[in-house]
This record gives sequence, structure tokens and C-alpha cells, in this order.
Amino acid sequence: MPDKQKITVLGSTGSIGVSTLDVIARHPGLFRVVALTANTQVDKLFQQCLQFEPEFAVLLDEDAAQQLHKRIAAAGLATEVLHGVGALERVSSLPQVDSVMAAIVGAAGLRPSLAAARAGKKILLANKETLVMSGRVFMDAVRESGSELLPIDSEHNAIFQSLPRDFGRGLSAVGVTRILLTASGGPFRSKALSDLEYVTPAQACAHPNWSMGRKISVDSASMMNKGLEVIEAHWLFDAPADRIQVVVHPQSVIHSMVEYADGSVLAQLGNPDMRTPIAYALGFPDRIGAGVAPLDLFKIARLDFEEPDMTRFRCLDLAYQALRSGGTAPAILNAANEVAVAAFLDEKLPFLGIPSVIEHALEQISAAPVNCLEDVQQADQLAREIAMQSVHSQGKISHSPFTLHASLKT
Ligand code: NAD
Ligand code: MG
Repeated sequence: MPDKQKITVLGSTGSIGVSTLDVIARHPGLFRVVALTANTQVDKLFQQCLQFEPEFAVLLDEDAAQQLHKRIAAAGLATEVLHGVGALERVSSLPQVDSVMAAIVGAAGLRPSLAAARAGKKILLANKETLVMSGRVFMDAVRESGSELLPIDSEHNAIFQSLPRDFGRGLSAVGVTRILLTASGGPFRSKALSDLEYVTPAQACAHPNWSMGRKISVDSASMMNKGLEVIEAHWLFDAPADRIQVVVHPQSVIHSMVEYADGSVLAQLGNPDMRTPIAYALGFPDRIGAGVAPLDLFKIARLDFEEPDMTRFRCLDLAYQALRSGGTAPAILNAANEVAVAAFLDEKLPFLGIPSVIEHALEQISAAPVNCLEDVQQADQLAREIAMQSVHSQGKISHSPFTLHASLKT
């Protein structure tokens, strides 16, 4: 009997983390959880520790870690409790770990994902922000260490499944002409543009097909999620921007497609349930059960497709622009988006203020080449400061010159 796959689940208390543990729990003979991590959620992480008895549990927050430590000790578990970013990196690179599920949300996921890549782990990458911010640095680390990289984002997982195994030779070399990245269009696809000014966080988080964390739900409503995914696809599959076509497909049944030189289009279909791509990556190259209901094509009956409206979804347009600008531009886009989304969720910025804040940051900061992680972190920090200023002026973008940093455009 083969050894069990030993796994660290980063962000285990989140939407992807919980789905990952659901799949793992279905196959006790195949997997063993080495480490679980979360931001501050003591209760949820404690319950997960009781169920999976990991060697390590990590909380970002020190106070939360102390609380968890007490409860773990009282329960008589042997789990060691750690805290901080260094500990997240450590459990991503432990020698006994085979695979790392990278499911922290946002820029916070970058350092632990990169640690896993540098340590040569099999990486199940949900944290798309890692690739958006530092695609070159991350992909270089994957190549240099010989990591196996499996995309969890449903679209990229579908593309991966629809590509030949040797796609690393180059898309043209394997006969691929385009990547067709499907998008549901989110909850506001057919809402009048004028009504979008007044939408609430609860409306933005009510996705028609998928149940997800709040940040990605807002990104789906603004279609920034698709913009981030275009950049993610660029790095994962070495695809130029003009070979990646976004296709609005409201039913979310086709998770994405690959078009070939002979006119063939290969697709992966399934119910919108993240346990499918998670199980695919966990079991790869084998197929394992995911607990997902079979696709009922008779019930679905029809599949629709539309071209995306770039004037309605300015965030998608901004993401294409950032990808074409290259260098630190996608990191600036991502950081400004994180600040704007947090402000929107906090009811400090109207929904339509999100693209304005991002556009302003991209205008104010010159994109610079990315040679190392520090280049990315500097751009991220500066973009957050500029975006914060935009939010404070309540979405009304001031064009007064900023004096914050030498690398600002004048
Ligand atoms: P979520 O908000 O539900 O969960 C996030 C997890 O990260 C939680 O465990 C949280 O404790 C942890 N976390 C948050 N901030 C942290 C920090 N500063 N340091 C350490 N840990 C932190 O998010 P989610 O919806 O599960 O998404 C996770 C990632 O997967 C995101 O990058 C998202 O874009 C991507 N993704 C999610 C879905 C989905 O269906 N939810 C689909 C595709 C891709
Ligand atoms: Mg996706």
C-alpha cells in the first residue's frame, strides 16, 4: 500500500480550506494532514484539529494562537501551536510535507506559497493573488525546485485538464490557439449600470452559482476576479494576453475551454462545486471521489455565452491593461483592489468606486520590472497607500500630486 500523501492546508478555515478537508476526510487511506492554518479563527481551527489531529496548527495572530494552545492542551492533543508569517512559511516547507494547499486569501498568501515552491512541494494553488503579484518569481521558484503545480481555481483547473500533459513545451508547439476563460458574470451581469452605484456588500456577495469567501465574491461581482484569472492563466500556461478570451457563461457549467489549431475546442464541465478541482489536484494523476453530485445535463438543458462588456466591468479592462504593462503593474492592480474591496465591504466606498481607486493607483505609480520579491512588496505597499488615500477621499479621485514616494509618476 502506497504511503499516505502528507498535506499542509493553508487557510484551512476558509471556503476552499473547508472543501479541501471535506475531500480529504472522504479518503482516510490516502491523505494525512500535517498542518492546518488560519488567520484568527480559534473555534473553527480547534474543531479541525480535533478531527484531523495535525502535527501543527498555525494562527497568524499571537493572542489567538495562545487561546488555541490552551484548548489543544486541555483536549490532550499533541498538536503544536505556532503563530506568525514565519510559521506559515515553516509548515509550507517541512521535510515531511508532500503537498501544500495554498488557500489563504489575498496578498497574505504570497510568502507561504512561495516557501512551498522553493521547497519543491506539490502545490495546489488556490491563492491566485500569488501569481498576479509575483508570477515570474513564483514560476521561477517552481521550475528551479521541480515543484509540481496544480491549479485549483476552477477555470485554470479546467484548462489544465483540457491541455496536453506536455503543454510546458509552449502553447503554439502543442497546437493551442486560444484559452477560453469562462465567467459567470456574477450577480450584477444584467443589472442596469446606474443601479450599480447603490449595491450593498450583501448583494455583491450573493453569487448566483458559487458559494465563496467575501473578498472573491466581491471580485466576482466586479469581474476583477476574471481579470485576476486572466493574469493567473498568463503565468500558469505561458499565454499572452491576446490568446486569453473571456467568455461570459452564466450557468457556470463549462469551467473553461482550450481551442486548438484544427478547430477543436476541449472543455471541462461539472457542477459548480470547488471539491471537483480540489479532488482532481489532490488525487492527480488519479481520479478520486469528491462528493459532488453528477452533472444533470437534462436539468441544465441549455448553455449560454456572451461577450464581456468592458464598459460595465471596468475592472476586467484594467486587469488586461496591467497584464500588458507587465512588471509591477499587476501587483499594483491587486493591492489597490484589495484595499478597495475591503473599503467596500466596510461600507466606506461605493461599488463603482472600486475600479476608480484601482485606475488611480495604476495611473499614479510607474510599473517597474520585477527582479525579486522585494520589487513586488514595494509596489504592493505603495499601491496600498495610494489606494487608501483614494478611499479616504471617498472615491472622489483627487488629481493633486502625491509626494509619497520617489517612484511616483509626476
Ligand atoms: P476565505 O476568506 O473563505 O478564507 C481565507 C482563509 O485564509 C481563511 O482560512 C483565513 O483564516 C485565512 N487568512 C485570511 N487572511 C489571512 C492572513 N492575513 N494570514 C494568514 N491567513 C489568512 O477565502 P476563500 O474563498 O477560501 O479563498 C481562498 C483563496 O482561494 C483566494 O485566493 C481565492 O481567490 C481563491 N479561490 C477561491 C475560490 C472559492 O470558491 N472560494 C475559488 C477559486 C479560487
Ligand atoms: Mg475561478
